[in-house]
Amino acid sequence: MISIRLNMKQIIVAIDGYSSCGKSTIAKQLAQYAGYRYIDTGAMYRAVALQAIRNQVSPSGNAADIEAILGFTRIDFAIQPDGTQHVTLNGEDVEKQIRTLEVGNAASQIAVVPEVRRFLVAQQQKMGEQGGIVMDGRDIGTVVFPNAELKLFLTASPEVRAERRFKELQEKGGQPVMADVLADVNDRDYRDTHRAESPLKQADDAIVVDNSNMTREEQMEHIYRIFDNACK
Ligand code: C5P
Repeated sequence: MISIRLNMKQIIVAIDGYSSCGKSTIAKQLAQYAGYRYIDTGAMYRAVALQAIRNQVSPSGNAADIEAILGFTRIDFAIQPDGTQHVTLNGEDVEKQIRTLEVGNAASQIAVVPEVRRFLVAQQQKMGEQGGIVMDGRDIGTVVFPNAELKLFLTASPEVRAERRFKELQEKGGQPVMADVLADVNDRDYRDTHRAESPLKQADDAIVVDNSNMTREEQMEHIYRIFDNACK
C-alpha cells in the first residue's frame, strides 16, 4: 500500500473545526497513514500566547504590545524519536507548557490579532508548499491553503467535546470542573467563529465529519476512505 502511495501526488490536507473535537489526534493519525508531515497550527498560536504571558503582555491587550513580541519569537517544531513533533519557542521545547487551559484561552485571545495571524500563516504556508502535509487549525481550508486538495471540517456537540476535554485534563493530572470546561468550550467557539480576522468557518468545498456518535475507529476508517479518494 505504501509503495503505491509513494507514486501518488503529495496532496495538502486541511483540517479545520471546533476546539476539542479530536482534530489533532485525527490529523496525526491521518498523517501517519499517508506518510505525510503533520502540523498542529493551534500549537503555534499557543506558543505565541505563552511568549506573551512570559513577557507580561496581556493576550487580550494592546495589539501593538503583542506585535512587539513577535520580533523576538521563533516558533518551530522538533521531531521526537517516536516521530511526534513538539513545538519549540526560541529553540525551547514548550510542548508541555502550552497544553494548559490558561494558555489555550490566551491562544484564542491572541489569535484575534491580525499581525499574529499574518506572522503564523506565512510560516504555515511555507511549511506546506511542497504538499505531503496534514495541517489542522481553524482557517487552514479558508485562508492558509484555500486550494488544498482535501478539506475536512470536524465537528461534535459542545457537550461531547467538553466531556473529552475534561477527561484529557484529568489524565494530565488536573482537577477540572465540568461546568468550567463546558463554559470554556463555548467561549472558545464564540471567539473562534466571531472574530473579524479569519473566523472559523467551513470552507464551501470542505467535507464535514460530525464525530459526536462515532467511535475513533469508525471515524478513522471513514477519513482514510475520503483521503484515498482524494488522492486518486
Ligand atoms: O487547536 P487549539 O485548541 O490548540 O488552538 C488554540 C487556539 O488557537 C484556538 O482556540 C484558536 O482560537 C486558535 N487557533 C486559530 N487558528 C488556528 C489554530 C488555532 O485561531 N489555525
